[in-house]
Amino acid sequence: MQIIVCIKPVPDPKYLSRVSLDETTKTLVRENVPTVINPLDKNALEAALSLRERFGGEITVISMAPESCIPVLREALAMGGDRLLVLSDTRFAGSDTLATASIIAAAIQKTGAFDLIICGNETADSGTSQVSPQLAEFLGVPNIMHVSAIEVSDDGVFRIKSRIEAGYVIAELSAPMVLSVIKELNEPRYITLMNILDAEAKDVRVLSADDMILKEPWVGLSGSPTQIVELAAPEKRAKAEILAGDARRQARALADRLYRMGFYHG
Ligand SMILES: Cc1cc2nc3c(=O)[nH]c(=O)nc-3n(C[C@H](O)[C@H](O)[C@H](O)COP(=O)(O)OP(=O)(O)OC[C@H]3O[C@@H](n4cnc5c(N)ncnc54)[C@H](O)[C@@H]3O)c2cc1C
Repeated sequence: MQIIVCIKPVPDPKYLSRVSLDETTKTLVRENVPTVINPLDKNALEAALSLRERFGGEITVISMAPESCIPVLREALAMGGDRLLVLSDTRFAGSDTLATASIIAAAIQKTGAFDLIICGNETADSGTSQVSPQLAEFLGVPNIMHVSAIEVSDDGVFRIKSRIEAGYVIAELSAPMVLSVIKELNEPRYITLMNILDAEAKDVRVLSADDMILKEPWVGLSGSPTQIVELAAPEKRAKAEILAGDARRQARALADRLYRMGFYHG
């Protein structure tokens, strides 16, 4: 099975409170925030690894990202991806989701036939959930969002469980397709030191705009139909209070607060 997994480097969600807004440039200030692979993209890769273990084949990991992110992206190779394609070019900078999807689609068309593309359902930073459905549209294949289970019958029919507000939808379809996965799907595997060392020998290739056929006009900031007119931090309404002391002292303080707020009517 030929599987493509799309991964995006994002500011580590553990430190998102350190990300601030530059009011002048209307951009996010990410300095001093470590970069990691978008957490759901690791679930996407884990799904690909499980399918490869059963059916054989290859996993190509694709990321549109600056070359400086390659050390972070290598983690996908340590997890088990076979090769990494990094789409990097100054002309790609400032791309909105449509441009991002159009560039990734062009790179995939260059890599050849695929059975499955697996993405995260959304990223931890921009989180629009737009890239994977747009990617499917550009490639002319179906897309299923909110994927929480993937089963494949011996005759190659995929049975995909997708979470919706009222429950689940089960769809049966044949490859090729784009799947956008949620956390519920699996637990990404642990990486050992040997895995990290093995990843050093794996194929990492950087593709620029000249290495692919960009059929669409949507490339970079100037080719992005979405324009950011305003960017503002949400107004802070709730105030958090951290209770000090050991668990017993914290529990007492919490009970006291709740009593004073009128939650106890004993
Ligand atoms: C006008 C405009 C300008 C922008 N300029 C910049 C900029 O200069 N720098 C910047 O960092 N961002 C910029 N952005 C944000 C950028 O559009 C998004 O980061 C990007 O398109 C991905 O969108 P998302 O994070 O919402 O992905 P989602 O749609 O939430 O992602 C879903 C899944 O798609 C896949 N995916 C998403 N992005 C990538 C990727 N890059 N490579 C591989 N797979 C991916 C992953 O599997 C991910 O889990 C800009 C946005 C706009 C609207």
